[in-house]
Amino acid sequence: MKDKNNFGNWILGQEVHSGNNTFNTFNPILDRPISGDYYEATPEEVNQAVDAAANQFYEFSNLSGDRRAEFLEAIAVEIEALGDNLIQTYCDETGLPAGRAKGERGRTLGQLRLFAAEARRGAWQMPSVDLSIPDRSPLPKSDIRKMMLPLGPVVVFGASNFPLAYSTAGGDTASALAVGCPVIVKSHPMHAGTSFLVASAIIKAMQDTKMPKGVFAHLNSMDYSIGQQLVKHPKVKAIGFTGSERGGRALFDLAAQRDEPIPVFAEMGSVNPVVIFPEKLELDLDQLVGELSDSIMLGTGQFCTSPGLIFGIDDDLWKSFFTQLGSALDHRATQSMIHPSLKKAYNQMKSKLTQHPDLTSLCTISEAKRPNHVAQTLASVKGVDFINNPDFQNEVFGPFAILVSCKDWEELDCAIGCLRGNLTGSIMATEDSLSKRFSLVDKLQHRVGRVIFNQVPTGVEVCASMQHGGPYPASTDSRFTAVGNDALLRWVRPVSFQNFPESLLPEALQSKNTLCLIQRIK
Ligand code: NAP
Repeated sequence: MKDKNNFGNWILGQEVHSGNNTFNTFNPILDRPISGDYYEATPEEVNQAVDAAANQFYEFSNLSGDRRAEFLEAIAVEIEALGDNLIQTYCDETGLPAGRAKGERGRTLGQLRLFAAEARRGAWQMPSVDLSIPDRSPLPKSDIRKMMLPLGPVVVFGASNFPLAYSTAGGDTASALAVGCPVIVKSHPMHAGTSFLVASAIIKAMQDTKMPKGVFAHLNSMDYSIGQQLVKHPKVKAIGFTGSERGGRALFDLAAQRDEPIPVFAEMGSVNPVVIFPEKLELDLDQLVGELSDSIMLGTGQFCTSPGLIFGIDDDLWKSFFTQLGSALDHRATQSMIHPSLKKAYNQMKSKLTQHPDLTSLCTISEAKRPNHVAQTLASVKGVDFINNPDFQNEVFGPFAILVSCKDWEELDCAIGCLRGNLTGSIMATEDSLSKRFSLVDKLQHRVGRVIFNQVPTGVEVCASMQHGGPYPASTDSRFTAVGNDALLRWVRPVSFQNFPESLLPEALQSKNTLCLIQRIK
C-alpha cells in the first residue's frame, strides 16, 4: 500500500489506535516482512467497537431490506474501486498468484450482491401466520404470528487461506449485515493489509449509504487475547469463524462457558474423502490421476475442500493408480505456503503422520528447497490400519493425501462408517456400479455436507443449493451452511407475536403483506 505505513483499527467509521503494539505482515515469496505497522486493538477499543455495534443494532435491524442491500452493493463497488492495489497487497501477503486473487475477489463481490438480493427479497424472515379462531371450542385460538429476527452484534474471524471470500467482507460478514446484525471483524494477522483495505471500502460504503456508524468495526491483533475478549463480551450475540479445528473448538468452548452462551458457527478443517470404484479406474485411470493431482496441489493444498483421503479396493488396477498418482505429484514443482507458520505446521503434522509405522510414503520429494515451499506428499495405509487409527483422519493443511487400500468392500464400507464429519465426500464410479453399491451413499451422506459424484471436492459454487458445512469437526453446527443463500439463516432466531393488532405487527407479519413475502398462513 503506497504512502501509508501505519494502520489502525476501524471503529465508529474512524481509523484509530490507542495502543503501542504493532506487527507486520509477511511476503512468503520474498521471505521477508512487508513494511507497514499494524496497530493491535486494545481491550478498550474492543469495548468501544462492541458498544457501538450494540447501541446501533436496533436502528440497523429496523432499516428496510432495500437500505441494507444498498449498503452491501456499495461495499462491492468500493472493493472493486480498490483495483490493483488490493490484488497486489493480497499477492504480497499470501504468495498466491494474481489470477487466484482476482477470482476470489470476483466471488466476494458476487456474494455481496447475492446477499444484497436476499436482503431485498426478505424471504429469510420466514413469516408464518396463524389466524385467530375466537369461536373455537372449548377455548378460543389467539392470533399468533412468527418470523425470524436478527440476533445482534456478530464477531467474524476470517481464515488465512481466503483473505477475501472468507474474511473481512466475506460470506459471514455479508450475510450477517444482510439480516441486520452489526459486524465486528477480528482481522487475520497474516493478511492484515488486505483486510485493512477491504475494511476501508466497507467504511466508505457505510458513509456513502448513511448507515449507522457502529454497524461495522475492524480490529487487528496477532495474539488470541483480542479474539477471546470479543467472544466473551456480553453484548456479542454470535460468532462466525473460519479456520482450524483447534481454533474453532477453542472459541466454541469459550462461548459455551459464558454466563449467556452464544452460537458459534465455526467452519473448520476437513479431509474430504474420495472413494474410487474399480469400474471407474478401469475406464478413466489417467483422467483420475490428472484431476486428483491437480486438486491436491490447488492453492498448495490450502483449501478446506482439498482431497485428503482416497479410498479404493486393493487390486492391480488400484496399485497402478497409486503408483501413477505418486509419480504425477513427484513431477509437479513444489509451491509456497501462505505463511512460514503454515509451512512449519504442515511439516510437523506431515512428519508426525508419515513416521507412523502403518503409513508408507509414495512420493520421492522429501524436502522443498525454495523459501516457504513444501513437498507435496502422498502416503498409503491399509484399510484395517486406517480403521484402527483415528489420527489418519487429522487434517494436514497443505498438499497431502493418504490412499486407503481396502482389501474388500466390507472393509471399505467399515472405513467409511468410521469417518468423522467432513465438508464433502466424493464417489468416483460409473452410474451402474454405484447403483449396485448404493449403501455407500447412504453411509457417506450422514458423514458429510455435500456428496459429489465423479468430481473432485475442490471448487465451491455460491448458490442456493450449496451446503458448506458438515457434521463435527467440519463445522460446529451441521444444520447450517457458510456458503450460499442460506448462510443468512445462521444469524437469525424465530420470535412469535401473539394477539397483536395488525398495525403494530412487524411489516413482514402484517396481513396486507406490503413486502410481498411468501407467508405461511393457517
Ligand atoms: P486458524 O489458525 O484457526 O485461525 C483462524 C482465526 O482464528 C485467526 O484469526 C486466529 O487468530 C483465530 N484463532 C485461532 N485459534 C484461536 C484461539 N484459540 N483463540 C482465539 N482466536 C483464535 O486457521 P487458519 O490457519 O487461519 O486457517 C486454516 C484452516 O481453516 C484450515 O484448517 C482450513 O481447512 C480451514 N478452513 C475452513 C473453511 C471452511 O469453510 N470450512 C474455509 C477455509 C479454511 P490469530 O489470527 O490471532 O492467530
